[in-house]
Amino acid sequence: VAVPEPDPERLLARRDAYFATVQEHYFDAPPQIERGWREHLVDTRAQVYVDVLNNVATTGHAHPALTAAAARQWSLLNTNSRFHYGAAVELSERLANLAPDGLDQVFLVNSGSEAVDLALRLATTATGRPRILAAREAYHGWTIGSDAVTTSLGDNPRALSTRPDWVELMDAPNAIRGTHRGPRAAAGYLADLDVQLAGLDTSHLAGVILEPIFGNGGGVLLPDGYLVGVYDRVRALGGVCISDEVQMGYGRLGHHFWGFEQQGAVPDIITVAKAMGNGQPLGAVITTRAIAEAFAAEGSFFSSAGGSPVSSAVGLAVLDVMASEHLQENAKTVGDALRSGLESLASTYDVIGAVHGLGLYLGVELVSDRETFAPATELTRLVCEAMLDEGCIVQPTGDYKNVLKIKPPLVLSAEAAQYVVNALDRVLRRLVLS
Ligand code: PMP
Repeated sequence: VAVPEPDPERLLARRDAYFATVQEHYFDAPPQIERGWREHLVDTRAQVYVDVLNNVATTGHAHPALTAAAARQWSLLNTNSRFHYGAAVELSERLANLAPDGLDQVFLVNSGSEAVDLALRLATTATGRPRILAAREAYHGWTIGSDAVTTSLGDNPRALSTRPDWVELMDAPNAIRGTHRGPRAAAGYLADLDVQLAGLDTSHLAGVILEPIFGNGGGVLLPDGYLVGVYDRVRALGGVCISDEVQMGYGRLGHHFWGFEQQGAVPDIITVAKAMGNGQPLGAVITTRAIAEAFAAEGSFFSSAGGSPVSSAVGLAVLDVMASEHLQENAKTVGDALRSGLESLASTYDVIGAVHGLGLYLGVELVSDRETFAPATELTRLVCEAMLDEGCIVQPTGDYKNVLKIKPPLVLSAEAAQYVVNALDRVLRRLVLS
């Protein structure tokens, strides 16, 4: 068993030496975290933090049911899905039952990037067309395909000028700080899209990929009616619709299991990962039989570890824990309370331009001017550093890195949520009122 280096500074120097440097770390002087329990993290100096950031550890850290499921399956068998075993079949069946009618074909993979890549390949093979519509300010992954539709400047300042020519960019439909604001925003963005589509050779359009709520933007809800409007247009042109549910789906929104439900839309292809394995590499693409079968044109599909017995056993345990501990319900009640706590801070602090999101995917957007929405990027960084001292792990997101992303494990207690609100209150009082 590896004994962790006990000194965070020394470990950081070793990290700088060997862990390829483009892989950023949180915080200027990061605490060394070696333990977690439920929504808490513990560093090697015995400081305890509320983990406001881990949308992968849905069931909380170190859940005994997951430990037991993984250990049991490792002790029996781990192999690939060309062998015939129960766990991958059971997990596929459970996912198909969670998806809308007609989406009952499941591919099990290892990550969100792989799921998005496969979804893009499904869209292009099913339609026989190459082009994909993708929104600005989006993150969809790091493989060649998923990176091609990733347009977030926060992650890559050159993203817009370096997309391959099969990607057709559309405006980020942000009704709060974008081109069209307020209640008529959806109509405005859709009218712009009509103009854009009229100027394209749409016979090359395979489909569209969108998150149902802008995760990278900090949980910004799409304007009402936007997603249905986009899907209608894309389908009318013979394309298919991909909902990237890697961040938003799987119960986190509390009020809905899938993000597209919030918009009343139904996609043709769903991508899911993160929460599905609670950190175990596991992702999935869920689609219709017609789209899945069209993939035969590319040969058969196989992933060496995707849907392995161990990953599938963990995936099933995650779903069991979510059901037995009512985690979607918790995301709704605790998320709603957390949102109203954050909104009450917005009435005290002008720097809070908006509170975004739903359930336990929330974003607090910090601005230097509430009219222009000028981003308060440096303040956001300082808030995150100060929140660390308060025992809360939170980080910035968005193209301007001015949104506090709040996406804790779904086991977050009401007390821990209130602790986060109180800590942010203390930090903002210190940083902006004094
Ligand atoms: N899609 C979305 C919406 C994501 O947020 C992410 C990861 N942040 C991915 C895809 C890629 O997932 P992974 O890191 O598991 O490859």
